[in-house]
This record gives sequence, C-alpha cells and structure tokens, in this order.
Amino acid sequence: MAVAATAIGSAPALAETTVFRNFSLIDGRGGAARPDSAMVVTDGRIIWVGAASQVPTQLPADSQTVTLDGKFVMPGLIDTHIHLGNVHDLKLNEQYYTRENVEADLKTYAAYGFTTVAIMGTDKDVIFSVRNAERATRPSMARLFTAGQGIVFRGGYGGVPGINRPVTNAKEAAAEVDAQAAKGADYIKFWLDDELATMPKMPPEISQAVIDAAHRNGLKAFAHIFYLEDAKRLVAQGIDGFVHSVRDQPVDKALTDAMRQKNVVQVAGTLSREIAVYAYGKPAPQLEDPFFQQALSPAALAELGSAERQKAVSQSPFYKRLPGFFDRAMDNLKRLGAAGVRYALGTDSGPPGRVAGYSGHWEMELMVRSGFTPDEAIQAATARGAEALGADDLGTLERAKWADFVVLDANPLRDIKNTRAIDAVYIAGRQVPSVKR
Ligand SMILES: [Zn+2]
Repeated sequence: MAVAATAIGSAPALAETTVFRNFSLIDGRGGAARPDSAMVVTDGRIIWVGAASQVPTQLPADSQTVTLDGKFVMPGLIDTHIHLGNVHDLKLNEQYYTRENVEADLKTYAAYGFTTVAIMGTDKDVIFSVRNAERATRPSMARLFTAGQGIVFRGGYGGVPGINRPVTNAKEAAAEVDAQAAKGADYIKFWLDDELATMPKMPPEISQAVIDAAHRNGLKAFAHIFYLEDAKRLVAQGIDGFVHSVRDQPVDKALTDAMRQKNVVQVAGTLSREIAVYAYGKPAPQLEDPFFQQALSPAALAELGSAERQKAVSQSPFYKRLPGFFDRAMDNLKRLGAAGVRYALGTDSGPPGRVAGYSGHWEMELMVRSGFTPDEAIQAATARGAEALGADDLGTLERAKWADFVVLDANPLRDIKNTRAIDAVYIAGRQVPSVKR
C-alpha cells in the first residue's frame, strides 16, 4: 500500500510539448541555415530536431504547434562578460544592487536574445539566490553565471567600491577565492591591470595564489588583462581564460602557441567596450536607433546624448588613445582566431554607457568587421560561449539541450546585423517578454 501511495504521489505533472516548425535552422554548430526545419520541445528541453517533414507522429494529443514560416531560428545568445545590478540610469553605485534591479537587467538581456550571461565579479550575494532559483525551474529571464565578488588588489584597478573586498597578499587572496567558492561561484574572476600606469598592479605571487586557489576548489580562473606581458605570465601561471583582449601591442606567436597548447580561452574580446568608452564623446548614431533606445530609460538616453556627457567623455585624459586600443583589440581577436585559439563572445556591458543586450549585437558586428564570418561570430555567441562556461546543455539547438532560442525575421548569416531582426525570444521553450525601459 505504501509503495502504491508513493508511486501515485510522485507521478510527474503532465508534460508540456510544443512543436516549432517551418523555420530555417542555424543550430550553433556552423554551416548554412537549414530550411524547413522543426524542433520538438518537452518541458523546456529539445527532444527532437530535424526536417519539418519528419516530425515524429507519436506526440501527446495536447501538443501545441507554433509555425514559423519565413523565420530563422538560432540558439539563444550568450554574453560571457557582463556586469549588472549596479547602475541606475547612467550612475553606478553599489546601493542600486537589489534583486529587483538584477532581475530587470536579466530581462533586458533576454529581450535582446541574450538568454545566458556570465557576470564578471561585481555581484552581491543575492545573486546566488537568483541563480539557484533560475536553475530550479524554467526561467523567464536570462540564465546567469557568476563569479560572486572578483579579486581586486588593494589600491589597484577593478571591482566596485562597497562590493569587492581588496586583498593585500597571497594568503588573503586565497582566502577570498575560498569564500567565493563556498558561496557557489561558477568561476573565479580577478583584475590584473594598472589603468595605464596610474595604479598599482596585482603582483605575480597574488595572481598565482588566486589561480591555484580556484583550481583547488575545482573552478576556472578568468582574468581581466590589458598588457601582452601579463597575459604571457598568466598563461604560465595556469590561467584558464582572459575576459578582455590584449590591448597594448599585437599578440605574438609565443602567446597564441601557449594559449592553444594550454587550452586557454579568450572568453571575451570586449570589442564593443573598447569603442563604447569613447563613442559618446561626440554625437553617436546609435542614439537614434530604436533597437539601442529600448535598452535605456528616457533619462539615461537623454544624458548619454547630452553635450555635458560628450564633453566629459572627450576630456578624459586617455580619450585620444582609446581608438588605438579599440583597433588593437579588433586586430588581436582576429589573430587569436586565426592561430586556432579558442574564443567566445563577451562585451563587458553593464557599466554606464555600455548598454545591456545591444552591446552583444554590436560585438558580433565588430567581430565581422575585424574579419570573422557571420557564422563564426554567431558560433562565438552560442556554442563557443557555452563551451567557455562549461554549460553542456546550452549553446546549440540539439537534442537534450535547453530550448533557448531566438526567432529572426532575416538571415544573420547573410548580414550579421540581422541578429537584430528579433521576432521572439524563447528560454526553456517559453517566449519571454520584450522590454521597454
Ligand atoms: Zn568587466
């Protein structure tokens, strides 16, 4: 009797099955779009994908069908380097970091087709609760991966005041890594930069301690870097990935060989960051673009286009050098790709003026401008992003993966700007709302 009662009590809820059909499929693994495709989704997972003419006939009687004639379907996009929750309009302050603001940002990313984001070290601990709640269900906003609080050298570059706890030595650094791991960080992030020789740089014994502690906890260590020589030393120290391009000089064969041999990933190229940091020093065309505008509040949009803002940006001490760093990042990401180094797509969006969601589409456009094909840019933002994060059930539209996908009105393999022709975004098989801030 007890056994029968248990069996009845644990009977699964009726499965929810949807058949999506008649679209052209870009599955994230590369190659041309496959016309007349179909996908069967049960409880948010893909259980079948193939030609629309061959959809299995034995489906539940209550299955829903969504016909997508003339549409293109690509995997949900992944941004491997973002920050969220700390900005209100164009002001950054840790006091804005609330669950509500975090979730508002995740909804913005999702509306732009970015169904997964990786936050790089500026989260408060409520992020773990948001993430764990998402992972227990079928989320209606972007899935998130988090480093918790990234590791900052005291007095040095990086982090957000009031969130990150700067460290002064290797012992403190290892303890801070252990603290993030104990909370459930998905990876460890640290900053190694001197902000163009204006701040002290994290010393080598601390970066080594961070990397070793991350690995001892079974986590990957990802670094913010700027200089070629730092990138080389970190590869020798066992780093797993870089979340920015080298920007001081061209990457050389010694670095690309070492990255390839040690399987170090260029997690993010942040090309859109390198241009966004100076783009608003003069009237910027995207301020008039509705696809850009919908990510921002009216107040933020007005301020970003204001004469005061342009003056402040253009009077920054490094303003004249910034276009050179952008060009260097563009060239170096292309060099890494050509040398067979693994890479994914990340924007460093989130801080004021680096616009959530929009930035990822700009990033793909810039990758293509730097010499990647549209197919490569889309793979960087899908399959390769999932690989960089170790997310086995995301990134491609294949059997057993989550049904996270973007429905487009035009073919992005023909013109990368067609990634912006978004008709609908689905996470775990359910359409998510579009967002107007
Ligand atoms: Zn960042």
